[in-house]
Amino acid sequence: MSPALPSRADAVVIGGGVIGLSTAYHLARRGIGVVLVEMGALGSGSTCKAAGGVRAQFSDAANIVMGQHGLAVFERFGELFDQRIDLVQHGYLFLLDDAADVADFERSVTLQNSLGVDSRMVTAAEAKRLAPVISGDGILAAAYAPRDGHCSPESVVLGYARAARRAGATLVPHCRATGGEVVDGAIRAVRTEAGDIATDTVVCAAGAWSRTIGEWFGVDLPVDPVRRQILVTEPIPDLPAGMPMTIDFSTSLYFHEEGPGLLIGMSDPDETVGFRLGRDDAWLPRLAATIERRVPALAEVGIASGWAGLYEVTPDHNGLIGEAPGVSRFLYATGFSGHGFLLGPAVGEVMTSLVAGEAPFVDVSQFDARRFEAAGPHPETHIV
Ligand SMILES: Cc1cc2nc3c(=O)[nH]c(=O)nc-3n(C[C@H](O)[C@H](O)[C@H](O)COP(=O)(O)OP(=O)(O)OC[C@H]3O[C@@H](n4cnc5c(N)ncnc54)[C@H](O)[C@@H]3O)c2cc1C
Repeated sequence: MSPALPSRADAVVIGGGVIGLSTAYHLARRGIGVVLVEMGALGSGSTCKAAGGVRAQFSDAANIVMGQHGLAVFERFGELFDQRIDLVQHGYLFLLDDAADVADFERSVTLQNSLGVDSRMVTAAEAKRLAPVISGDGILAAAYAPRDGHCSPESVVLGYARAARRAGATLVPHCRATGGEVVDGAIRAVRTEAGDIATDTVVCAAGAWSRTIGEWFGVDLPVDPVRRQILVTEPIPDLPAGMPMTIDFSTSLYFHEEGPGLLIGMSDPDETVGFRLGRDDAWLPRLAATIERRVPALAEVGIASGWAGLYEVTPDHNGLIGEAPGVSRFLYATGFSGHGFLLGPAVGEVMTSLVAGEAPFVDVSQFDARRFEAAGPHPETHIV
């Protein structure tokens, strides 16, 4: 049963995915009286639909730092949150068949190394040694970081939720925020279907649904929902052990171990913006053709299950983090465009610093939502 809705809070977090829960946890630990409202079950938005990939291999310096911070937290999650998250660290392997991509990843590896990330470029032959199921045809090089991996989003949600409650946060699942009250540019309350919560501080962590939340407070959050589908295969006998999360970068096909089989995903260029969550088969011919070419060893493997979730996509595929200037006080952390699960630990800390009026541990000014009008886009290129 959901707790009674408090009538007042120092800060209200809208959205109970990994970003909102991590933020609520860190706010509560700072002694900030936080109420989090989530319209469904905790984690039921995009977070529990994620493939669970965690990495520090990015092109953007702040994403590298935040990804690395996340890895450090995930590695200690059991000790910190008394919750097993089934972290597997067999690395991330980006297969590259385009010379421009190779140059881009080479630049990123240099940047990552300068920030302490143990990533490196490898040859096609080494990539095949790491992921023996692939065909090396056409691969020019690959980028690899052994510390990357994947873990269970449901467990991370449980860990943060329990820790947030213990630290004093009030988490209210199955309670939809429906609007905001703003008087003379100052937030007075968040309206929910269970009543109003008086507050002067809102953190929007509503993922794919953030655009609407922003509109209530007069803030433009350019985030669009785009469906992504995932399949889990039947058990695969003789699957090579220890394979990394492997990404065929030019097609976006990716796979990682999932129990005795593999979890497989790929973007669908025909997918349009919208809140569609049902599965369908339209993407399967393209997926099958890509698997046949890049991972022929899997071409005959049966499919056991699958699901669909929403990417929360911004125009430059990079997150929106900051505080809106026009209304006091509206903060946002959203639009992570398919890499928000791994950023959860870092972003929760960053948001807590911003709420407290302090400089966060990493400079996030380039993630300001106004960048599209002023400085221009700030793309993250290593996305799938
Ligand atoms: C198929 C798939 C695979 C992915 N794989 C990865 C991966 O391997 N690694 C990775 O890092 N990321 C991955 N992602 C992306 C990742 O899932 C998201 O970036 C991340 O979960 C975003 O977290 P969030 O907390 O911002 O959003 P969400 O988890 O979506 O949380 C936002 C919450 O806000 C709630 N909400 C919205 N409106 C309201 C309202 N009015 N009132 C109350 N609550 C509201 C929603 O119900 C939702 O639960 C994947 C996503 C998909 C779909």
